[in-house]
Amino acid sequence: MAPELLERVPQISLKSFDIGCLIGKGQFGRVYIAREKLSGYIVALKVLSIEELIKVNAERQLRREVEIQTNLRHPNILRLLGYFQDDIYFVLILEYAAKGELYKQLVKSRRLKEKKASRYIAQTAKALSYIHQKHVIHRDIKPENLLIDFHDEIKIADFGLSVHTIQRRRTICGTLDYLPPEMVEGKEHDEKIDLWSLGVLCYELLTGTAPFEEACHTATYKRIAKVEFTLPDHLSFEACNLICSLLQHDPKQRLPLKDVLKHPWIREYEGQPSSN
Ligand code: ATP
Ligand code: MG
Repeated sequence: MAPELLERVPQISLKSFDIGCLIGKGQFGRVYIAREKLSGYIVALKVLSIEELIKVNAERQLRREVEIQTNLRHPNILRLLGYFQDDIYFVLILEYAAKGELYKQLVKSRRLKEKKASRYIAQTAKALSYIHQKHVIHRDIKPENLLIDFHDEIKIADFGLSVHTIQRRRTICGTLDYLPPEMVEGKEHDEKIDLWSLGVLCYELLTGTAPFEEACHTATYKRIAKVEFTLPDHLSFEACNLICSLLQHDPKQRLPLKDVLKHPWIREYEGQPSSN
């Protein structure tokens, strides 16, 4: 008998779903598209091996992810609809994000047009503003943790597993790319680290590379601590202005989320259709 990771919901099991194709693989398990048989509702099932979770001592992180995500209700935050377990698997029932990771979209198109990036940044800022009001800090905002739904809306994912995902960025030196100076310098940090990450995200979406990316960790560390980055010529004045307002060494100087949402670069594209 598997140890109880979390409260069991006896009426739901894998049998409640028609399981479709595999849509992704994570550190501890696999993600499938599935349809709940009674309602016909399409979801993503994140199927985690209990043995693996225990082996790497990830139970606490998982519990945190579940606790946090269950209580968050926002159009730009991936809904955790429920969870259950059997002897082998722990299963998260997640809202399905049809277009997958923003990271994949970025790799495919190399960089995004300003209109599209502006909309994604606005949506991410709205979700961050919501979680900060609830005293939750995401700590790991980056294109791998932002999913896109069928309507091209951002869905922030990966709450609580951030400790793991932070070490899993798929670039040579990527683990550090989104870290703010206060973390690089080993100082205390607060919710303003998400503002820094939003600035890094904005830069990466518009240019295709992270602002402080270097071939080795030490070099990245140094550039982050000195806030040393260059803005390519193709960026608009307003986009540069927003990036610079967020990438401030002093957390208190970073543009607050309410002002990000009022920024001319965000306002310019507000309410426009999501295509192109
Ligand atoms: P970690 O184990 O650190 O979370 P990960 O994010 O790579 O790593 P998962 O969260 O298990 O792993 O997800 C694996 C992949 O499945 C993701 O990269 C994403 O492409 C896809 N995926 C996950 N959740 C959903 C979802 N709700 N809707 C659509 N695709 C999803
Ligand atoms: Mg994930």
